[in-house]
Amino acid sequence: MFILKGVDQLTNAITKAKKIRPRVEFDRFGRYRVSGIRGGYYTVICRKDNRGVKAVACTCRGGEKGLVCYHAAAALSLHIGLARQRQTITV
Ligand SMILES: [Zn+2]
Repeated sequence: MFILKGVDQLTNAITKAKKIRPRVEFDRFGRYRVSGIRGGYYTVICRKDNRGVKAVACTCRGGEKGLVCYHAAAALSLHIGLARQRQTITV
């Protein structure tokens, strides 16, 4: 799991995600399944606590060590888009 502080920390993972183009499946808001290079899927959880701290967790090895993996980057691009839509709907 890692704490998301800004998009800068995602740059490398986004580049990798663009190259690999994993499949991202929507499970529910904040929970996504992302395909791995060797097949199978990893689960990525994006959540925000009540202090506004954004945490992202991925079930891959890198993610468990707290690294920003491309699964997380791929899931976040979908998550951020959905979060924006939600805000537009609720406001
Ligand atoms: Zn991962």
